[in-house]
Amino acid sequence: MTEKADLPSVDITAVLDRAAAGGRITPEEALVLYRDAPLHALGAAADAVRRRKYAGTEHIATYIIERNINYTNVCVTACKFCAFYAAPKDTAKGWTRDLDDILRRCAETVELGGTQIMFQGGHHPDFGVEYYEKHFRAIKDAFPQLVIHSLGASEVEHMARISGVSVEEAITRIHEAGLDSFAGAGAELLPARPRKAIAPLKESGERWLEIMEAAHGLGVESTSTMLMGTGETNAERIEHLRMIRDVQDRTGGFRAFIPYTYQPENNHLKGRTQATIFEYLRMIAIARLFLDNVQHIQGSWLTTGKDVGQLTLHYGADDLGSIMLEENVVSSAGAKHRSNRMEIIELIRRAGRVPAQRATTYEHLVVHDDPANDPVDERVMSHISSTAIEGGTAHPELKILASN
Ligand code: SF4
Repeated sequence: MTEKADLPSVDITAVLDRAAAGGRITPEEALVLYRDAPLHALGAAADAVRRRKYAGTEHIATYIIERNINYTNVCVTACKFCAFYAAPKDTAKGWTRDLDDILRRCAETVELGGTQIMFQGGHHPDFGVEYYEKHFRAIKDAFPQLVIHSLGASEVEHMARISGVSVEEAITRIHEAGLDSFAGAGAELLPARPRKAIAPLKESGERWLEIMEAAHGLGVESTSTMLMGTGETNAERIEHLRMIRDVQDRTGGFRAFIPYTYQPENNHLKGRTQATIFEYLRMIAIARLFLDNVQHIQGSWLTTGKDVGQLTLHYGADDLGSIMLEENVVSSAGAKHRSNRMEIIELIRRAGRVPAQRATTYEHLVVHDDPANDPVDERVMSHISSTAIEGGTAHPELKILASN
């Protein structure tokens, strides 16, 4: 698909009306809408779709409390946009958490009302399937109530290679050990040109999707993500969505789509411009319109800011992701926005919605429909401040991030 030439002439208003009414739009139409539709008209159409999809609960916007446990930063894949990893030979920068440390972080998560663990780290040259089996079993044995929503196709490809097994076997074994669902990690940009430019050692976009499709077939659902703003074209962004939609038509296994923006600090992608907030809002809206087979669209504001996060709720997003008890990956690359539970509740209210804490599978756990019953956060804030500093994390506050 080309960026400008050869695109069919599109009646923007007619396509927006069709999409708002639930009609499917083509990738070519999506590109024209993404590029040329008036911003507010695009957002209004996306919001109409969201309201229809959530008829009866359209007044609610959700968040989740989770902890992102970064188990190692040692990685052989050396993605150019990544400020988190350390090459295996860089022993001064590289670290790995031991199991006791990981279990302590899980215990804190439970104590603070968290329901989900994201186990996220580098592609360690020694970590095969056995490493993940051992850690997931230990977490589930100690905290059966925690949902392990972690990893992605890239980690599966890596651990299967290290252990000399098929990806299907790797998925089955870590699922049996306790993994509940895959995060959309590693999708970055799926089309070949931008993917090679930023992550030349990662599997291809087609392979990423193949592994996700295999996981869905084995009963392990996932989310999907997109990294915006590393130099990809608008056509490549829409192509990324098309690739996800095609797999979703076959599997139905993607629970959500979560775009987030590239953070430019401390990495090897020099001279890239970040996606603007307008591009980000347009992506949220076009994702809601184009991904008619994906239920949840998540607005991220760790990378874009709270005001933008709030706006996403009017451009098609139904969820604002997680209040994270710990996060180091995008923070390492310069993401500076963070908040606590009351702030996210207030932020959602100021957007005209009723906040609800959700489970990994999006059921509402607590609906905050009465401010008199709002949670008291001071204990959570001080507890996290002390433990996070102890653990050496970069930012000792509760943070919100696209939870993947
Ligand atoms: S993004 Fe993940 S796979 Fe890529 S270098 Fe960073 S830690 Fe490694």
